[in-house]
Amino acid sequence: MQETIDLIAHRELRNLRRFTRETGQPTQLTSLDLGEMSYVQSIEIDEEHVTVKYNTKTVRNYNANEITHKEWMYKYNDDEDFVAAVRRVIELSRKHLYDLPENLSCPPGCAECCSGYEPFVNRDDVQRIADHLGMSYDEVMKEYVVPRESADGFVVGWLRKVDEKGARSEETEDKCVFLMGNRSGRYYCGIYEARPSDCREFTPIGCEDVDVSLPRGGAYKTGRPFQPRHKSKNGSANNGRRMST
Ligand code: SF4
Ligand code: SF4
Repeated sequence: MQETIDLIAHRELRNLRRFTRETGQPTQLTSLDLGEMSYVQSIEIDEEHVTVKYNTKTVRNYNANEITHKEWMYKYNDDEDFVAAVRRVIELSRKHLYDLPENLSCPPGCAECCSGYEPFVNRDDVQRIADHLGMSYDEVMKEYVVPRESADGFVVGWLRKVDEKGARSEETEDKCVFLMGNRSGRYYCGIYEARPSDCREFTPIGCEDVDVSLPRGGAYKTGRPFQPRHKSKNGSANNGRRMST
């Protein structure tokens, strides 16, 4: 008999999606506050062994992650109490995940990261934003991306920043071109469904920039989505915020 137990069970995934549906607050599995446990890939139990596979180190580089994998194997020789204890830990872990969703979301309207951080974009991100806005890939690159070449060509640049008046900016304290709303508690992403994968990785867990004055919980109503300002002759939007550089 061999059983593989995934710590991230489907039940928890459904639960997270339900929480997002009901509150409108985004949740994602990568946001789970699992601490050390988040490194565990799987636990296998057979007649003699408990094998835990885990990652010990993740180094995030400009356009790639380096992960060191390890495996820990324990031979328990029919130690039923030990197996029962492991099962209890797993059940507790699942319960922990089940109870957790309320803590997973950023406070509604917080967007400190959308100001202090420039998300990298890869080709898929740019194409997704282009499709979302009804623009071409090149138009999105021209209007909203600061191009930067990467060694493997995967990352093509980062999202532009604009100042309060909407003019292009090089200042790090200014905000992402797609950030909508006029103050903390009212901010929202104007291209949320199409936002770059870099933005999807952000989580309030361990975030040092969180605006702690904002209340958590409850549904959050956002305003209109980001709209490019002008349409090209062929009907596609092409200019977005036209700004002087
Ligand atoms: S794309 Fe959206 S989530 Fe990402 S930095 Fe800009 S406003 Fe924030
Ligand atoms: S809590 Fe952190 S990650 Fe979430 S929106 Fe605020 S600054 Fe960004």
